[in-house]
Amino acid sequence: PPQYRGVSARSRSVDRSSIRIMFDRAADYDGDLVHLEIGEPDFDTPEHIVQAGAQAAEAGKTDYTANAGLLNLREAIARHGKLGADYNPATDIVVTNGGMEALYLAMLTVVDSGDEVIIPTPAWPSYQAQTKMVGGVPKTVPLSGGSFEIDLDTIEETISDDTSLVVLTRPSNPTGRIYDASKVEQIADLAEEHDAYLLVDEVYNTIVYDDESVAIADTIGKADHLLIVNSCSKRFAMTGWRVGWLAGPEDVISQATKLHENTTACASNVSQHAAIAALEGPKEPVRRMNEKYRERRDRVADRVDSLQGVSCPVPEGSFYAFLDMRDTGLSSEEISERLLLDHGVVTAPGSGFGDAGDGFVRISFANNINRVNEGLDRIEAFLNEVL
Ligand code: PLP
Repeated sequence: PPQYRGVSARSRSVDRSSIRIMFDRAADYDGDLVHLEIGEPDFDTPEHIVQAGAQAAEAGKTDYTANAGLLNLREAIARHGKLGADYNPATDIVVTNGGMEALYLAMLTVVDSGDEVIIPTPAWPSYQAQTKMVGGVPKTVPLSGGSFEIDLDTIEETISDDTSLVVLTRPSNPTGRIYDASKVEQIADLAEEHDAYLLVDEVYNTIVYDDESVAIADTIGKADHLLIVNSCSKRFAMTGWRVGWLAGPEDVISQATKLHENTTACASNVSQHAAIAALEGPKEPVRRMNEKYRERRDRVADRVDSLQGVSCPVPEGSFYAFLDMRDTGLSSEEISERLLLDHGVVTAPGSGFGDAGDGFVRISFANNINRVNEGLDRIEAFLNEVL
């Protein structure tokens, strides 16, 4: 009989996310845990958004939509999605099942087998996973120093005619850094010189602490080699609704829409109606959530600053802090393991975000301030024990 071939080499090449592994391990823990590993808002979706979704369901908006998404939603994205004025909703935006699918479609559309994808690390693990899923080769480039700045020289040394994509997250998960717009512009120029695309993942771009929002479109505008990923997940506390978008030049978006048509067809109709309400509706609920994030960000930065043996760049955006715990002499996995087993606090090991993150752990402050405080107390107790 024919031999069963087993799963593909491609699927085997992809690692599981170390964040999810910690999450699963924590599920076996019997006791009071402080969850600081979670990468999603702790808030419920604002009421007016939920209502819009419920009304859409009741009104029978339960069928497929256009593959690229409801035109009304694409128009709302063009108006309120921080893209600037140049994006045409009819041709330059495809609505996806979250930012994750937007990113995946971007990779499928511009990365051929064997092409290189440059990823400054520490970075969100799915960039490497998705690169492998489309047959590309991840080229990680370490961000420099304790502040995790982009080093243009290293990007310049790494980029070549084999590069088809450079991926930047702004603000960054896990470091909370917001790269200087002029540097991003220079990387866009480098990408263009090598016929590569620059993808800027902006899913955290309204959760920022020094401006109202940051958007690369404000600096670069629309460009033939610029792709932008964004979503409703983080900004509107809508992770489970699964609405995101990819914006870019018409030729890329039309191909991405074709691939989307053949994989998921469209994002949920009900969720797309909720997303219109999110983008066009009152801004007050978002402002209130952002105030809470700011309060927690300040608390984390103050506490970390006052502790021995740990430091982090002050997060400028997102809801993460990337704690440098290299003074402990332990690996990220060891630190996360001991924090979990001995102190009941769940963190994401920094090495899961690339080798440059070893000796670091990521904490998320998408948890209420008392739990964040409690988590920091436990981290302090751990440091007192090991240092
Ligand atoms: N990009 C980054 C940097 C993220 O951290 C996440 C989620 O954690 C996403 C994209 C995808 O989010 P979603 O698919 O919910 O929009």
